[in-house]
Amino acid sequence: MSIRVQKTFEALFELEEIRGIFREALPTGLNTGEEEAFQKKIADLRAIIADLEAGTGTPKVTKIAGTLDVRSREEQYINIHPIQAAGRLTTEARKALISYGDGYSTCDFCRKPFRLDKISRPGIAEFHADLAKWLNMDQARVVPGARRGFQAVANTLVNKGDSVIVSALAHYTEFLAVENAGGQVREVPLNDKHIVTAEATAQKIEDVKAETGKLPVLVMIDHFDYQYANEHEITGIGKVAHQYNIPFLYNGAYTVGVQPVDGKKIGADFVVGSGHKSMASVAPSGVLAINDEFAPKALRTTAMVGDLTKRKFGIKEVEMLGCTLMGGTLLSMMASFPTVKERVLHWDEEV
Ligand SMILES: *Cc1c(COP(=O)(O)O)cnc(C)c1O
Repeated sequence: MSIRVQKTFEALFELEEIRGIFREALPTGLNTGEEEAFQKKIADLRAIIADLEAGTGTPKVTKIAGTLDVRSREEQYINIHPIQAAGRLTTEARKALISYGDGYSTCDFCRKPFRLDKISRPGIAEFHADLAKWLNMDQARVVPGARRGFQAVANTLVNKGDSVIVSALAHYTEFLAVENAGGQVREVPLNDKHIVTAEATAQKIEDVKAETGKLPVLVMIDHFDYQYANEHEITGIGKVAHQYNIPFLYNGAYTVGVQPVDGKKIGADFVVGSGHKSMASVAPSGVLAINDEFAPKALRTTAMVGDLTKRKFGIKEVEMLGCTLMGGTLLSMMASFPTVKERVLHWDEEV
């Protein structure tokens, strides 16, 4: 590792240790022992900074907690792994992670009615509204990965034995979400250019109807697929789904945060995106955006009553299991959001 990168990590770690002193100390200030430890660490930090500036010295810290290597891939190399490009954190997201990387950090100001998307300090409620607006949908929730968005939708719409239309290039997490809900995937075949067309989707819906006597309950298609990165006829597919009155889930794991996505224009009932893949956020993170028609279903609140205690849990949403991204994941998403919103407008430069 370049010595300057090495020393940057050492300085960050040293600062974290200084921070640790404050976290352990009383709010009234450092006691004698703590002050000594603080001065010692400041001296160490100065030495590290001097090495950092001059590019001198030898590696002193190579492990975290004695076992974990320092991950310096982004600092040392040009990372061309396509799946990692849009998930790299912004500097602001890394700051948010330092600051909010704590157990229940988002919950400091959780007040009645007690739900993640209602918290206003930090501005989580506003972020949810911004996300929905940005995707031109009516409601948005953050989820631990696009897959959890598929799961929430599948668990809402799919009953045992129901068919769900996916593409012959569908991501495995779509298969699993449907399986988890007790449904059956039915794949739309590709044309000779490896494209999923609206026409083929309509044909598949007809085939399923003829074979099972029932229409599929959901159409779930990736805008760009993971094998060829081909673009599929997403708007046409949305139209076809609606002609059959079947809800349409737009899988934007590669697009939300990378290109502009307009849910209404696409005709999506659900838009799903991946935070760690495409929104410069810590994993696992993602977004599920929903239109007004399906929000009451997918975001239904708990009706469960305890038989002994008669307890009920108010506005907690069943598919979200109450709250989802509680901490650094969400705050990294929020901190990257301004950059992400801007960069989708500059796709050519990003490429
Ligand atoms: C990565 C990927 C997913 C899953 O996204 P997660 O956020 O990791 O759950 C879904 N669909 C496609 C096409 C993907 O590439």
